[in-house]
Amino acid sequence: MPRGGQTMFRCPYCGNKIEDNATSCPACRKSLAREDAQCQSPRLDGEIDKAKHEANMFTIYGILLITLGITGGGALWLMANWLGLFGGVLVCLGIGCVSAAERHAAKASALTREFGVRK
Ligand SMILES: [Zn+2]
Repeated sequence: MPRGGQTMFRCPYCGNKIEDNATSCPACRKSLAREDAQCQSPRLDGEIDKAKHEANMFTIYGILLITLGITGGGALWLMANWLGLFGGVLVCLGIGCVSAAERHAAKASALTREFGVRK
């Protein structure tokens, strides 16, 4: 590697040799480094937002299903109605949703940690 601030590297877009401190490629005029970060972070933000959104949705569904299962199913169960069993099924589905929500939330926070995106 040459020393003295004149390190050369290759443009990731066209392969042209460019100076280490160049902010854009003289050959293809793509801006370097900064553009990379800009290109990557919206996509990443999207991933994180999506994971957070899904976590929220699953949490809401989970809570709804559990509430419905316990109240509706419990009421039916108290009336000695076998339909009360469906309440148990709803609660199970709700618990499944909540754990899916936790997985999505974990994914969101893992991405946030890994890439240092502040939100
Ligand atoms: Zn280039």
